[in-house]
Amino acid sequence: MAQAFRSTRVLTQQGLVPATLVVEAGRFAEVRIGASPDSASDIHDFGDAVLLPGLIDSHVHINEPGRTEWEGFWTATRAAAAGGVTTLVDMPLNCIPETTNVEALEAKRAAAHGKTWVDWAAWGGVVRGNSRSLTFLAAAGVLGFKCFLIHSGIDGFAWVDEPELRAALEQLKGTGLPLLAHAELAGPVNAATAGLNQADWRKYSTYLASRPDEAETEAIALLIRLAEEFETPIHVVHLASAQGLPLLSAARERGVPITVETCAQYLHFASEQIPDGATEYKCAPPIRSAENRERLWKALEEGLIDFVVTDHSPCPPAMKRRLEGRWDTAWGGIASLGLALPVLWTGMQERNLPLAKIGQWMAAGPARLAGLEGRKGALAAGADADFVVFDPEAEWTVTPADLHFRHKVSPYLGAKLRGVLRETWLRGAQVFCDGEFAGEPRGQELVRR
Ligand SMILES: [Zn+2]
Repeated sequence: MAQAFRSTRVLTQQGLVPATLVVEAGRFAEVRIGASPDSASDIHDFGDAVLLPGLIDSHVHINEPGRTEWEGFWTATRAAAAGGVTTLVDMPLNCIPETTNVEALEAKRAAAHGKTWVDWAAWGGVVRGNSRSLTFLAAAGVLGFKCFLIHSGIDGFAWVDEPELRAALEQLKGTGLPLLAHAELAGPVNAATAGLNQADWRKYSTYLASRPDEAETEAIALLIRLAEEFETPIHVVHLASAQGLPLLSAARERGVPITVETCAQYLHFASEQIPDGATEYKCAPPIRSAENRERLWKALEEGLIDFVVTDHSPCPPAMKRRLEGRWDTAWGGIASLGLALPVLWTGMQERNLPLAKIGQWMAAGPARLAGLEGRKGALAAGADADFVVFDPEAEWTVTPADLHFRHKVSPYLGAKLRGVLRETWLRGAQVFCDGEFAGEPRGQELVRR
């Protein structure tokens, strides 16, 4: 039987308009634009709440199996559901084994079984020496691959140099799957760090100086060169430095298949405001200046930055070493899964950007990278009936009780945000409503089709 959901503000292809979503067998059968008759009793009327497509976070470290004490499928997918994220794509590291061969992918599937509140998919890993596993991983259903050009923080996930990248791209070329790259080169980071022996490592400025913009720009230049030569899509994850933007813009203009994401933390925070010792803000690349942040916003607005993710990468609180407050020994990674919608919307309002942009930046954009277009990321006929009910006018302050991931450590604690997520629906069924989870975990793995 068909269900129908309507409101006066539905994010359709025509923008934010009155519309009715008709859902059959977990998919949108029709998106009816305009005011609909109020007769039928099976219509869910959300009044003037905003209906958005279910969000997609294509950069999440779930850490299970192997480091479930850091995070896990149960907690991560609940945090996602509570934040309106209906699809997560899991990064291939921080779990044990790392997702660098088919056996490891199967271990991850077994670990996820029955524990996921939203849909999920896996990125495979490109590491030193595994180029022969890549086509098997592709056939087994990963949506693409992730690599590092610098030490990843995880010894089991070895970074790759240019010859290794070339060997991997040779394999990926035939699959059509994207290579996602952590774009920082070790050279500039090592050179900068060598000069900081005597520095005070409790100071944020020391950490920032240790990861200079050039580490990003030089990595981006290398990735552009390879994407152009191999005619294979490469995606720059978590761009933090605006200095990489002119290179990316020029490459895109000449048709190089290179895309780029940034993270909510780079659009929300600025280095000038980060207290010394506040290692909950540590991530790599680092959060840079307010002026840099405004250039990222501009590039997002212009469409040069394709979309926004969280790079949710938590750890047990002790590993943040908050008492010592040393930026060199604390684990790098910000926990924020599920907060990106109000964080982004708060920043958008400060810059007079329209809410409708959320569809591209948090749903359609990541869907395209992950090859999920048509299935996920839009309120459109044929797609899975994933949607969220959002109150863009409400204001709130982030408390530990609002965080549904495993460890309640986040630089967003205490942040005043605009916009409250009221409900999340996955394939036509409610999974979250006004602070409570509904039903059972019904998430599925999405494999490449
Ligand atoms: Zn990451």
